[in-house]
Order: sequence, then C-alpha cells, then structure tokens
Amino acid sequence: MINTPQDILNILTQVPQATAIYDNADLRIAYANADMLDMWATTDRVLGANLGDCFPEFEMQGFVDLLKDVWHSGKTYQAADVPASIVLDGIPTTFYFDFEYRALLDSQGKTYAILHTAKEVSSRLEAWAAVRKKEMHEAALNSELRASVEEQQALTEEYMALNEKLADTVDELSQSYKQLDFALDQSRRAKDAANLGMFDLDVKNDILSWDDRCKALFGVPLGSDVSYTKDFVAGLHPDDRQATLSAVKNAFNRESSGGRYNVHYRTVSPTDNAIIWVHAIGTVYFNEADEPIRFIGTVMDVTESVTSRKALEDRERRLQETNEELASTMEELTATMEELTAVNDELATTNSQLKKSEQVNTEVNKNLTSAFERLSESERRLNLAVLSAKIGIWEFDTANEIVSWDERSRELFGASQQGKIPYPLALQCIHPEDRTAVADAISYAQRPESEGYYDIQFRTIGEHNTHTTWVQAKGRAYFDEQNRPVHFSGTILDISDRVQSQHKIDAFNRAIAQNALEQRLIVDAGKIGTFSFNPETKDIVVNKHTRDMYGLAESAAVSADQLFAHNIMLGDVEQGITIQQIIEEQNSFDVEFNLPIAAEQDKWLRIVGNRIWNEENRNLMAYGVIIDFTAQKSEEKRKLDFLGIVSHELRSPLTSISGYLQILQLKSKSLENKQFYELLVSANRQSARMKLLIESFLDIARIGEGKLRLNKVEFTLHDLLSNIGQMLQQTVTSHVFLFHVDVQQLILADRDKIEQVIINFINNAVKYSPVGSKIEINAQVEHGELYIEVKDQGAGISEEDQHKIFTRFYRVENSQTEMVSGFGIGLYVSKEIINLHGGTIGLRSVVGQGTTFWFKIPVVVTSEASAATDLLGRSTEETNQELPSS
Ligand code: ADP
Repeated sequence: MINTPQDILNILTQVPQATAIYDNADLRIAYANADMLDMWATTDRVLGANLGDCFPEFEMQGFVDLLKDVWHSGKTYQAADVPASIVLDGIPTTFYFDFEYRALLDSQGKTYAILHTAKEVSSRLEAWAAVRKKEMHEAALNSELRASVEEQQALTEEYMALNEKLADTVDELSQSYKQLDFALDQSRRAKDAANLGMFDLDVKNDILSWDDRCKALFGVPLGSDVSYTKDFVAGLHPDDRQATLSAVKNAFNRESSGGRYNVHYRTVSPTDNAIIWVHAIGTVYFNEADEPIRFIGTVMDVTESVTSRKALEDRERRLQETNEELASTMEELTATMEELTAVNDELATTNSQLKKSEQVNTEVNKNLTSAFERLSESERRLNLAVLSAKIGIWEFDTANEIVSWDERSRELFGASQQGKIPYPLALQCIHPEDRTAVADAISYAQRPESEGYYDIQFRTIGEHNTHTTWVQAKGRAYFDEQNRPVHFSGTILDISDRVQSQHKIDAFNRAIAQNALEQRLIVDAGKIGTFSFNPETKDIVVNKHTRDMYGLAESAAVSADQLFAHNIMLGDVEQGITIQQIIEEQNSFDVEFNLPIAAEQDKWLRIVGNRIWNEENRNLMAYGVIIDFTAQKSEEKRKLDFLGIVSHELRSPLTSISGYLQILQLKSKSLENKQFYELLVSANRQSARMKLLIESFLDIARIGEGKLRLNKVEFTLHDLLSNIGQMLQQTVTSHVFLFHVDVQQLILADRDKIEQVIINFINNAVKYSPVGSKIEINAQVEHGELYIEVKDQGAGISEEDQHKIFTRFYRVENSQTEMVSGFGIGLYVSKEIINLHGGTIGLRSVVGQGTTFWFKIPVVVTSEASAATDLLGRSTEETNQELPSS
C-alpha cells in the first residue's frame, strides 16, 4: 500500500534507472535515486539544492537551460547517446547517456515538476565505437594476414577460404558484439587453422587473452589465465625482450606507429627452456583521445624459417668471415708479396747499383788505363813531335843569366857550346836586326805585367854568321810571391819554311792585288760592265759601267729584269729566249743582244760569264761582264756591206768566166788533150765553188737587209736528190754516199735554196769527216713535214759549239778544223732559208762519233708525184743505194 509520498519515493529508488525530480523552475532537486546520485558521482547532500548550483558543469554543458526550457514549455525532452562531462574526483570525465526530461503538468497544464530519467550508455557507445574501429582494424588485420600469408607462403587455400569467412564474420561483427565475438572466434579458428596464435590485450583493464596456440608458443599451460607481465614479458627471450617491449610501446603511440606492431622475437618456455621464434603482427586500437584500448594481433611460429634463415645467415656469416679471413690473409699475402717485391727491387737496385759501380770502377780503371796510355802516348808523341818537328827546348836561369839548351836549340842558334851558355853569347847568334827585339822580349817576359809570356820570331845567324834561320821562340816565365821570376823556359822551332811560304803568300797576295787593280783598270779602261747575280734571290750587284750601259742612275736600284729581260740574238736573229733564262740554265754563257736605248739608236751588248758556287751564301751565283760592242757591230755591218758590194761586183765577171770555162771544157774534150781537159775541169770546179761562195756572201747581205726572198716551185725531191747525186758523182770522190729517200709527194718550196741547204750539209760532211767514211742522206715525210738529214762519221761538234754553230761567221776552232777552209756562213744562211720556209733546223752530234744535220719544212702536197725513177734513172718507189765515188 502506498501511503505517503515517501513511499512513492522509496518505490522510485527501485526503478532500475537513474531518476531525479526537480520541483521548481530553479530546478531544485527534490529527489534523486541512488543510481542518479552515483551517476552524478555525489551523495544525497544535493537533495533540496538547485541543480545548476550543485553541478556548474551541467550549467556549462547546457543541461540546466534545457531543463528550464522543459519547465517553461511543458514539453518533454528526450535524447540518446548524449555525452556529458561529470567531475569525478575533481577530474571531468565524459559519459554517455540516454535521458528524458519529462514535464509533469498539473490540470492547468503548468509544470509542477520535471522527471529526469537517465541511463548511462557509455559502455555501449564505446562498444559501438570499438566495433567500428574493429571493422577498420579487422580490415587492416585482414591485409596484414594476407601479408603474413604471402610472407610466410604457408597459408593454405583453406586459410584463404576461412579468411573470406573471417571477412564475412567481420561484416557481421559490425552488427553486434555477439557477432564480433563470433567473428573473433571464427578468426581465432581461422588463425588456428593457419597455425596462427592470437592475442588480445584489453589495455584499460589489463586483461590479456591468449588463444591456445599463443599459449603454446609461450609454453604456458593451456587453460591457465595469462598476464602481460607474467607471461608475455617474462616469456620473451632476454635478448629480445627490450626490442619487443619497445615495439609494443611504439605501437601504443598512435602518432609514431599508427598502432602497428610487427616484430620477431624468441620465447623461452618456462618449463623446458625451449626457444621458439615468433613473428607477431598486431594492431593497437585507440579511443578518441588516442588512448590505447585494445591490442589485438597474431603470433606465428617461424622458428623453422628463422632457424633456417639463421643457419643460412650463419653460413653466410661464416662464409663472409672465412672470406674476410681469406681476404685479410690475401691482403697480408699481398703486403708480404709487396714487401718481398720491394725487397727484391731494392736488392735488384742494389745489385744493379753494385754492377753499375763495378762497371763504373771498371770504366774508371779502363779510362785511367787508357788515360795513362794516352798520357804515355802523348808523351811519346810529344817527344816524337819534338824530335820530328825538331823543336828545341831551352831554359833561362834569370838570376845568373845563363841559358841551358838542348842539342836542337844549340843547332838552331848555330852555336858551338853545348849545355849551358852565357846569355850574351846566345844573343850573339841572333841576327843583328832582331837582337834588340829578342832581348827586349826576354826582359819583358820576366816582368809580372807580361804574365810571363814570351813569343817572338827572329833570325839566327850562328856564331860565325854562317847562315840565316828563321825561328820562333815561345816560353813562359813563372814568378814567386814577391813577383820575382823563378823559372823561365820554352821551345824554339825552325820556321824558315813557313816564313818563306808566308813571303810567297805575301808576294802572291800582292800579285793578286796588283791583278785586281789591273783588272779594274782594264774594266775601267774598256768600260766593261760587271755584275754578280743570285738566281735564287734575284739579288744583283753591278758596277758603274753596267749602269752607264743601261742608262741607270748611280743610286737607282737595279733589278734582274732590267738587265736580263731582253731576248738574246744570234747575229741579227732574235732567239726567243731571254738572257735571264740562259743565265739561270747554263753554267757558262756568252750571249749577245740588242738594247734599244733611244728611238733609232740601238746598243749591242754581249754578256759573258759563268755560274760559280759561292761558299759564303751557299748559292750558285752568276758572275759576268757586259761589253758594249756597238762599235764593232757597226764595223761588221760596214764590212758586210762591203762584202755585199764586192760579191755583187764579182758575180757578173765570174758568171762570164765560168761560161767561158764550160765552153772551153767542152771544146777541149774533142782536142783529146787529157791534161788540158782536166785543168779545165778543175778550173770549172773552182769557179763553181767561187760562185757558191759569192752567192753565200750575197745571201748574207740580203739577210742583213731582209731581202732574202723565196721563189717557191713544185718539184719532186727525187729529181732534186738525183741532181745532187750526179753532181757528187762528178765532183766528190773521197767519201761513200748513201741515199735513203722515202718521199713521193710533190714539194712546194724554193728548190734552189733547199738544194743549197742540202749541198751545204753534204759539203760540211765531206769537209769535216775522214776520207773514205760514209755519208748518209735520209729523206722522209713525217707528221706532214719533209724531214731531211745528212749524217757523217766525222769528229763531231762539242755541245758548247753546237749552240753557236748557226751564228754568222762562226767556225769551230780546233786542230781538225783549222786545216779546212771556210767562212762560217754556210749554216747561217741555211738556217735563214729554213726559217723563211717556216721550218726548223738542227743537229745531233757526239764528239768523236759524227754529226747529223737535219731540217724540217712543212710539206705542201699539191699532187702525187707521177713516176719516180731512182737516183741513177732506174724506176723505183724507194731508193736505197750507194753512190760510190768515181
Ligand atoms: P764553214 O764554211 O766554216 O764550213 P759553216 O757555216 O758551214 O761554215 O760551218 C760552220 C762551222 O761548223 C764550221 O767551220 C765547222 O767548224 C763546223 N761544222 C759544220 N759542219 C760540220 C760537220 N759536219 N762536222 C763537224 N763540224 C762541222
């Protein structure tokens, strides 16, 4: 029976829920049951007081205002899972509540009390939170598990299936605690199947749960409870304990590890001290304040792999150690080897040094020996030299003025006394003209300022003035510390020959000087120009006369161009080659040229010289003289003119004479007076020669005047040569003629002049080759040119003469030619004739072997020669016959 409000209140105390009643708007606590007081962490002393006064923290957290709202509004307020901070032992602690503020209304609907019921749900929430975290961490765990599976490669397919189941279970776990337990159980089983142990540490409550596997790993009897310190910490191998505990500590620090835990350690069984290698993986779960709440993970026996790994490592280590040992042994060996090598090297060096020093010793010995040998040799030689050079040796005792001389000295002085003689006596043997000089030299040598040197040439005449010998005396005086002469000795040598040679050289030099003077005088008198020319550097030095000839100012620079650029001339004909070319090509040169100095005024100069090697500048230098022969040239011209006039005047009477002679010869034949006939034949031959000569002279005159003209006609060479052949048959009996003619063409040329050239060649061959020798006449057409040569077996012509042979009036002068008459005009005229035909003329000759004169002229073919007869009138295409002398 409920009689009093107290009874109701008493009943209320039984309500299994925290309950409080506030009975005014200030929230006076009219009633609070034990649960409520517990929840508030207070006692019944708060009854009758206002809620806000008792619990300022409620005021701050807005609960008071909320209640006041309920009071005034009369509306009940419900909330779930609301956190509220309650001060426990002075420390604000958060709890979670489901609560209701129910407004109790009177009949007017006014609030007369509030019924406050509350239920602490912290643990539920925590559990939820844990579940959520668990979900996450289980997922992590899963991946770790997978990692473990991969890592250890021991997880079977079954495990994979179980793992999936575990994943499912974890899903279910998220539904409820039961499911969690179930899942954990499942996972435990899974781990069991995978040989994994599992541990679960309730951090807050320090409750450690190990599954059987885990216990087995730590050697803890199954069924017994385990504790962190007693079983885990104590069960760790002392060597691994510290590292493992610090890994745990690290896992508990969310910031540094994120709660992750992954270690290898050894456990030591408390019963049999068995050691097991364990791989533990785990996760620490934290609450919102980052405080660790749970620490869950797996452990696995990895003894086998660790042992094998260790064994491997051991082996590796041992191997490594062995290797290191080996390496160090090797190093030692190498070092020893190096030392040995170094020692060896040293030994070798020492050896080689020893050898060297031995060699040096031997060398020194050898050198010494050879030096000694040389010394004795030179001594011997000196003696020999002294003997053979007949050097005399003397010594002068300065204090006593006594000369000690050897036999040779005595001989050279021409004295009779041997060994030692008084100085005045020695002086007596010297030529009176030289005596004072010698005495002076001797006394000067005894004075310190001379440094003791004595060197003089003088004549000795002998005691009785019997001879004159030129001698050279050399000596040296030595002084003591007071500069007194203490020793004075020397040599004496007969230099008569040398003096005589010197006299000769002096005379020769004087002669040369005289010669040079004369030459200069000649050069000056003859106004001969001189030059020296370096073909390499083109440096040129000329004298005054050269400058005068060329009209060059005294100070003007002279170049080779100015001097040598002119074309050389042979006679009046330009040769198309400059003086410089000749000088640079030939070792000796003698050329003429025409130097135009003013309009209509020419100078004829001749340059004669040689190229000589100059030792000083190491060049082949050209030296020469330049002679102005304009005067001679004019003279020559006058002579030529005269010759021309005379020849011209002689020609008409000679023509008449030869006509008369030919008539007389014809007539005399019938007279049958052989002697008379032969005289006439001879007279005829001479007149023919004279005619030829006069024609040549006239030709020269014509050439000089440029009046030599060609009268070209068509003819066959065969006709021409057969005429010549017949003429030769009649006139020349001394030589054998051979004709080789291979020419069919008609020739257009000046027949007479070509004949003149050929006859000139043949006449020369006859004149300049021995009687009875062969003379070949060859003719052929070659590359469109008529080529004719006359080859003899005569004396030949030197190369030097070959250059000048076509010059007007040039004749080779030697013993063979001096007996042969001639004017040196035949070849000159021949050359002009061939030049006028536009051809070339030349010769090949080897001295002692013969000469071949040839010419070439362009062939103008008009028609083929009709019929050819041989040179004796026989019909033939080619003649090759001898014309024996008749
Ligand atoms: P010459 O009337 O003196 O013979 P050339 O002009 O015919 O005049 O010849 C010039 C010089 O050439 C001769 O004096 C002679 O010394 C030389 N000579 C010419 N032909 C020959 C030859 N066949 N053999 C040797 N010397 C020759």
